[in-house]
Amino acid sequence: MPLLDSYNRRIRDLRISLTDRCNFRCFYCLPNGEPPLARKETILTFEEIAYLSEIFVSLGIEKIRLTGGEPLIRKDVPKLVAEIAKLKPAMNDLALTTNGFDFPRHAEALKLAGLDRVTISLDSLKRENFLDITGVDALEKVLTAVGSAKEHGFEPVKINAVIVRGRNDNEIVDFARFARDHALSFRFIEFMPLDSGHEWSREMVVSGREIRDTIEKVFPLKLKETSRGSETAWKYAFADGAPGEIGIIAPVTEMFCGQCSRIRLTADGQIRTCLFSTTEHNLRDIVRGGATRTDIVGFIENAVLKKEPRHYINDAEFVMPSRSMSFIGG
Ligand code: SAM
Ligand code: SF4
Repeated sequence: MPLLDSYNRRIRDLRISLTDRCNFRCFYCLPNGEPPLARKETILTFEEIAYLSEIFVSLGIEKIRLTGGEPLIRKDVPKLVAEIAKLKPAMNDLALTTNGFDFPRHAEALKLAGLDRVTISLDSLKRENFLDITGVDALEKVLTAVGSAKEHGFEPVKINAVIVRGRNDNEIVDFARFARDHALSFRFIEFMPLDSGHEWSREMVVSGREIRDTIEKVFPLKLKETSRGSETAWKYAFADGAPGEIGIIAPVTEMFCGQCSRIRLTADGQIRTCLFSTTEHNLRDIVRGGATRTDIVGFIENAVLKKEPRHYINDAEFVMPSRSMSFIGG
């Protein structure tokens, strides 16, 4: 039986955080380099992740994205990818989100292991601003990672940029040009209240609408599909037929919870049914407590039934989750 939540949403998409550690200090995520919340012994082993992935796929999960923290900080990620790739074709999309810093030296092994797609975060094309946003002087390295992803055939290479007022909103058109010049799928993401520094404010959010209007003043866009299904992004082509794609992800100003198909597994084995969940479901203790496969399936099904109807960012009583994006797994 496929996983269904109590609002009849079919759950097909699992994001697995491999670690809550990171070598970057993005101000919108983990600005102060807080010590990781998870202790070494509470982090799921690759054997546990592979075992659970197989169970999730047997329950109808079709897409798995490995994320973090910075997933490539963990050793031997290609080995884990190879294990999860054995679940194809029932699982038909295996992706990785990375800050790119260590990507080039793993690119070939990841490709050979069966990784289908990669998303690289890139929040500025200016060296100084990149350093200011991420805390690391690594623009060149990340640009090399983008080239490496293309060379290794991870097409279409996706780029994520979180657009924040006063920090990189003056680069929106440059990002769109970069997408055209390099045939990239460029995702513009609204800033969400998931930063560990609790700096988020509504004034810092640049709406998806504003992002699109800014791009269209220079590069007119054409909506690719009138429905986005359970996808988070509205996808646009360049109206003049240039290569590349623009994706706009606007969870704050254009909530898409009604179509959500995602659940998350944190690095320490907690199921989170929403980015903004205030409760978690401790799958790790169930697995380590010697539960049978049937018990584990029952636990997952029950957790999914408790998936929240929507987020409450725009409600007066909104409570920011205690864990930041780096822990939850973006
Ligand atoms: N370290 C990897 C990276 O940066 O790509 C993977 C983990 S990161 C948490 C995943 C994605 O979440 C990144 O693209 C990042 O830009 C995004 N993200 C982090 N904090 C965010 C926030 N407060 N609002 C919106 N997106 C955020
Ligand atoms: Fe690290 Fe990614 Fe968060 Fe930046 S967005 S601090 S690279 S986990």
